[in-house]
Amino acid sequence: MRHDAIIVGGGFAGLAAATYLVRGRRNVVVLDTGKPRNRFAAASHGFLGQDGSDPQAIMATAREQLLRYPTVELVEKEVVHAQVDGDGFSVDLATGGTLVASKLILAFGLTDELPDIPGLRQRWGKTVLHCPYCHGIEFSDQPLGVLYRVPMSVHQASLIAEWGPTTLFLNGASLGDDEMAILAARKVQVESVAIAGLSGDGTELAAIELQDGRTREIAALYTAPDSRFSSPLAEQLGLVLDETPMGAIIRTDGEKMTSVPGVYAAGDIARMPHAVAWAVADGVTAGVSAHRALVFG
Ligand SMILES: Cc1cc2nc3c(=O)[nH]c(=O)nc-3n(C[C@H](O)[C@H](O)[C@H](O)COP(=O)(O)OP(=O)(O)OC[C@H]3O[C@@H](n4cnc5c(N)ncnc54)[C@H](O)[C@@H]3O)c2cc1C
Repeated sequence: MRHDAIIVGGGFAGLAAATYLVRGRRNVVVLDTGKPRNRFAAASHGFLGQDGSDPQAIMATAREQLLRYPTVELVEKEVVHAQVDGDGFSVDLATGGTLVASKLILAFGLTDELPDIPGLRQRWGKTVLHCPYCHGIEFSDQPLGVLYRVPMSVHQASLIAEWGPTTLFLNGASLGDDEMAILAARKVQVESVAIAGLSGDGTELAAIELQDGRTREIAALYTAPDSRFSSPLAEQLGLVLDETPMGAIIRTDGEKMTSVPGVYAAGDIARMPHAVAWAVADGVTAGVSAHRALVFG
């Protein structure tokens, strides 16, 4: 059968897009591998009405509410290929089989590659974090660290100083005079000795251990991970990408349509900066845009 829309990714953006399409009485299939980007965090902050909720619980409620509509199908399968197919699109599944639809919405999210520092990975989403608006006030006035990864890390450290006394860990990188002046103006300390590892009970963070044997007491460490598309579909479809200081995003217009007519992109893969509320908003835009294109051609 030919669906009205295929949605690749059933995270915040994908489920929001699906909700608006099914409320528009359209036939939608959502393919999802069940790995939303914030699955490492026990609480999601800043999303109206859900501040502090378990992100997996938000998703479970969204899925349960969506399944009340008769025209949606949620399928736990990976899409491995997508292509233009006549006047629509088709996608191939990892388990075999092909689905076809008039419109295609990409919402497959990002995967974070984390620095290879002992003790860091296990604390991701708990005490090693990327965004102070999502996870910052919980560590107010405690000693905070920022791990340098990209030039934007200087800006990140300058911002995070708003939440508590901050140290930028260069971990082998070096800074110019201008950057040092920016940090000094924000009272950010700079630690140039490379990091040996993170320590603390379980996923708590107590200290950063340095390679010269010293330790620095730190309650939370922020870093900008190397975030990549979770799927190669954008490249397969030949979509135009835009480079940002934090990596590539899919170029979309105000309707969240990509450079290929009929293909929409929503959520972290098609915007900067990132948050659940923005992913949901973009999903709504993509869903409504795809619906109107189905109605009006
Ligand atoms: C540690 C951490 C904590 C965060 N905390 C917060 C917070 O407190 N508040 C906040 O607002 N934001 C937070 N964020 C940001 C938030 O997670 C993202 O902005 C949001 O998840 C983006 O939604 P999305 O729908 O674009 O992608 P995702 O939620 O990542 O969903 C993408 C979905 O697509 C699926 N998928 C991927 N490839 C395929 C494929 N080929 N086929 C089928 N399915 C596929 C994935 O399994 C996943 O389920 C946090 C991020 C991180 C990393």
